[in-house]
Formats: sequence, structure tokens, C-alpha cells
Amino acid sequence: MKVAIAGAGAMGCRFGAMLAEAGVQVTLIDQWQEHIQTINESGLRVENEQGTQNYHIPALFPEQATGRFDLVIVFTKAMQMTDFLHKIIPIIDEQTTLLCLSNGFGNEETLRQFVSADQILIGVTLWSSELLGPGQIKATGKGRIDFQAVSSDFAPAKLTTVLNLLNEAGLQASLVKNVHESIWRKAGFNSVINPLSALLNCNVAEFGQLNYGTQLTDLILEEINAVAQAEGIPFSVRIIKQMLEAQFNPQASGQHYPSMHQDLNKQRLTEIDFLNGYIVKLGRKHQLATPVNQMITGLIHSKEQLGQLG
Ligand code: NAD
Repeated sequence: MKVAIAGAGAMGCRFGAMLAEAGVQVTLIDQWQEHIQTINESGLRVENEQGTQNYHIPALFPEQATGRFDLVIVFTKAMQMTDFLHKIIPIIDEQTTLLCLSNGFGNEETLRQFVSADQILIGVTLWSSELLGPGQIKATGKGRIDFQAVSSDFAPAKLTTVLNLLNEAGLQASLVKNVHESIWRKAGFNSVINPLSALLNCNVAEFGQLNYGTQLTDLILEEINAVAQAEGIPFSVRIIKQMLEAQFNPQASGQHYPSMHQDLNKQRLTEIDFLNGYIVKLGRKHQLATPVNQMITGLIHSKEQLGQLG
């Protein structure tokens, strides 16, 4: 099976390395010039608990990608996805499967602009990874993938092939019955901790100690809950609050600065339009007011703009 990773940042490179290690024919596709050049010249350096390993995996710019691929694993940031998929249209045909594990609400909608529903697999992953620099990632810890076909017309044999491929690479993949519930749970969690840690300039443990932390969390989650009900998606504020509390321990992930905090620190754009901003958009569709999520979205976009002004 020929596999392309569309968006070979921290996560795409981790998955690419694990698939390559399992003998899968994989190609990394990314638009960061220095990164692609480094991978082609010196290999992809992966730091993990075992030490550092070098992987020689073909790496291309989106404009260079040709030929057909059976599976395209989409791992851009949510806000980069549409542009990226436009650039790699030549490698996508009616037989190509797209698997997307990027964070955020609404990625399925993005993929549906490019292929029919019976070509789409979506899910969430608990694997993590960090870009240390061009051609270099830190890939420690373990994770898993929960995913599902968007349409009941997805070919069962193809589904089994993808599941087996991921598991042969040690990616601990499982098929779930209601992937939207998993996606909304993870995106709900991220819609609290990502913007609030970024706006308050704190790590997860510090956020857990704030007197107003619970109140701010409830304000965001109550609006997401109302929108989830309107969309017919099972959503539990209580479970997300438990997930957050489990992270507050400094010995767990407490010292961690969530990705939106890191993105703003590096003057990069964030996934806010696919977290709180997406809730505002869906709220409008259902005539539900979402002033808290609207305010959060506006504040994060303002921080992005201030970063760009520099
Ligand atoms: P990333 O920021 O590492 O990479 C995303 C894109 O940005 C890539 O195309 C990358 O090349 C580009 N990029 C990164 N640094 C750059 C630089 N300095 N200059 C130019 N381009 C640069 O993204 P990621 O962490 O792999 O995340 C992909 C998706 O997976 C997101 O939706 C994210 O929320 C989700 N996710 C991430 C993790 C994680 O641990 N990183 C875990 C679970 C889910």
C-alpha cells in the first residue's frame, strides 16, 4: 500500500517514521522548505526513549507530488488543510482513502470538499510529537488512534487493510462506533485549555490552580454543550472537566504548555477557528448565542495579529 503523509509536521513525521519502520512505502509531503530539504539530505531524525534514529523517507513539496497513493494521512493543522489538499489534488482519485486525525471540529467538512464520503476516515489520536527543528522530532510516550469511516458505504476490505496497516506499525488503532463523540470530546477539551492557557500565559498545572478556572471552563463548555445537543452529538461537560482535572497534576501533563500557547509564542497562526470559532459558526446555524466562544475567538485572533505585527 502506498501511503502519503499530507502535512509532515511533528505528528506527520512521527507517523511516517513508525510506518516506514514497519516496512510501509511512505512519502512525506510538506510545504516547509528547510524541513523537506533536511529530510532529503540528512534523513528524518527521531528522538525517543531508545535514543536517536535516522529515517530515510522520501520527502516532497505538495507541488512535486504525483502518481497515485492508496492512503493519504492528513496531518496539517486544521486551518492549513483546505489549501494543502488543493495543492495535492493530483495524487487524489476516486480510489484514494483520506484518513484525518488532526485536532478540531469540522475537519470532516473540509475533506468532503475533495472526496466523497465513502473515501473518508476520521478520528482522534493520543499519540504526541514535537518538532525540534527542520528534519528533527521528539517522539516520546505512547498513544492510540480511535477512528471510523464517515459513510457506511466505505469498503469493508479497505477499512480492514488500513486498520491492519496502522496496527502493524504499532499505532494501536481501533475502530469506534461514534467517532463524532470522540472528536467533540477532544475538541471540547482543547477549546478550554488551549485558548485559556494562551490568553493567561500559563501552563496546565497553573491553570488548574486558578480561582476562576472552573467558572471560565463552565462558561465555554456550556455553550459547546448547547451546540452539541443541537447537532445531535453526545457530549458531557462532566467528562471533559474530569479530563481537564486529570491533567492538572504537575507529575501528569501539568508542566505542559498547550499547542496554542506554543503557536502564539512562535508568532504562528492557531487552530482557533476549528475550536471555539467553529462553535460560534455552528451556533449561528442553530440560532444559538455563543458570546463566550466568540469573545475567546476574537481575543486569540487579536493575539495572532499582534504577533504578526511583531
Ligand atoms: P506542526 O505544527 O508540527 O506542523 C503543522 C505544519 O506546520 C507542518 O506543515 C509543518 O511543517 C509546519 N511548520 C511547523 N513549524 C514550522 C516552521 N518553523 N516553519 C514553517 N512551517 C512550520 O503540527 P502537529 O503538531 O504535527 O499537528 C498536526 C495536527 O495534529 C494538528 O491538528 C494538531 O492539533 C494535532 N495533534 C498534535 C499533537 C502533537 O503532539 N503535536 C497531538 C495530537 C494531535
